[in-house]
Amino acid sequence: MALTISKTNKDKPLLILSGYTYIIERITDLKTESYTWRCTKYTESKCRGLVHTAEGKVLRSSDIHSHGPNHGEIGARVVSASLNQEAKETKQSTTEILCSATQGLSLEAVSSLPQLNSLKKKVRCVRNKEDRVINPATLTDLEIPQKYAVLPSGEQFFLFDSGSEEANRVLIFGTQQNVKHLKLCEHWFSDGTFKISPLLFEQLFVVLGKSGDVTVALLFC
Ligand SMILES: [Zn+2]
Repeated sequence: MALTISKTNKDKPLLILSGYTYIIERITDLKTESYTWRCTKYTESKCRGLVHTAEGKVLRSSDIHSHGPNHGEIGARVVSASLNQEAKETKQSTTEILCSATQGLSLEAVSSLPQLNSLKKKVRCVRNKEDRVINPATLTDLEIPQKYAVLPSGEQFFLFDSGSEEANRVLIFGTQQNVKHLKLCEHWFSDGTFKISPLLFEQLFVVLGKSGDVTVALLFC
């Protein structure tokens, strides 16, 4: 049976299994993705429920919970994680996000959900926070979110930052592969564009490399 993993309010992995939820207590082996998970009611109910997983499967579990399963609460948690993700990563309207997050939810889970207005407020709150990260008031406040720092392939894309205290802050984006390629190019070209530079920045400076007849944009500063 494949594992169902959601996220906690703090964006940590949350294992959902048979009406119980677990957080990672120990990484036993990263290579085989072997984890020990502890029931989330460990403190609140002094629960000793543990699950061991490896390679996306349950190896063994000690189902000695001091409380009953709660499918309703879990459904509500999954909705909350889904709202969070959709609000951050899509441009869907608040109503659309609420519809897709609550689709197919059991009655038990619906009854555990907060009021509709609180859910809407949560979506707006996540969006405002995300917007402040992307469009901060000053260059010092600018932090590059992980989704813009790393490519979907896992390769690092954000290569250099001259520092948040730097008056003329410079950021460089590209891949190590691009840097290697640039080293081998016979000719380098550069082009500064002012029109499309992001807010707070003066210009977007592109470094291109020519190898043979092919010229490619490799670094973005
Ligand atoms: Zn438990």
